[in-house]
Amino acid sequence: MRFLVTAGPTREPIDPVRYISNRSSGKMGYAIAHAALAAGHEVVLISGPVHIDPPHAAKLICVSTSDEMFYAVDQHVCECDVFVMCAAVADYKPAKVSATKIKKRAANFSLELVRTRDILASLSTQDRKFLVVGFAAETNDVEKNASRKLQDKNLDIVVANDVSAVDAGMEADENEVTILFRDGEKKRILRASKKIVARELVKILTNAREKCLTKKT
Ligand code: C5P
Repeated sequence: MRFLVTAGPTREPIDPVRYISNRSSGKMGYAIAHAALAAGHEVVLISGPVHIDPPHAAKLICVSTSDEMFYAVDQHVCECDVFVMCAAVADYKPAKVSATKIKKRAANFSLELVRTRDILASLSTQDRKFLVVGFAAETNDVEKNASRKLQDKNLDIVVANDVSAVDAGMEADENEVTILFRDGEKKRILRASKKIVARELVKILTNAREKCLTKKT
């Protein structure tokens, strides 16, 4: 099977030296890429700026902004069987990027932010042949919010995790996730290293993809 995986944060520039970003380390997405390769799949990994060595056997596409990630996904998504959107894409970006470094002044400073394009939602109306998997990093009402994302973004599967705990989720080495399926089915992967969670997840996604292929033939 061909996996397309996105990982890490995006950076939305303010001026040549500043940007808006988030705490995503890319560990979960990279672990999924490794696990998919170990299971014998082909992997294209679209990565935001992270500090991890990429898996050698993956085709790596490095991006920085949400727009670059959008284009990279757009170019590759039709050639995959399973699309895992694990990246923490910024929700907002500066309305204008200053060509020169913004000078510090005595007065306060406000920045106008506009919405970035939602990569997953952009696929929602396509007649697609690949499985679409989103992530929902939540600090409260985890399953309720994740389930809403599944509906709103027309996902096949959403992987929900609670990022309020300091030792699991964002930046951490461990994770604990609930996987929600479109038909209402629910599976849990209990707390484990991201490597083990990724291995379980790849098994679940591979089975789900095989199931929908069987249904269509
Ligand atoms: O709406 P929210 O950002 O919480 O949804 C999270 C899911 O949506 C993740 O899978 C993330 O990769 C994806 N996303 C996206 N494009 C954005 C923002 C988030 O595809 N601009």
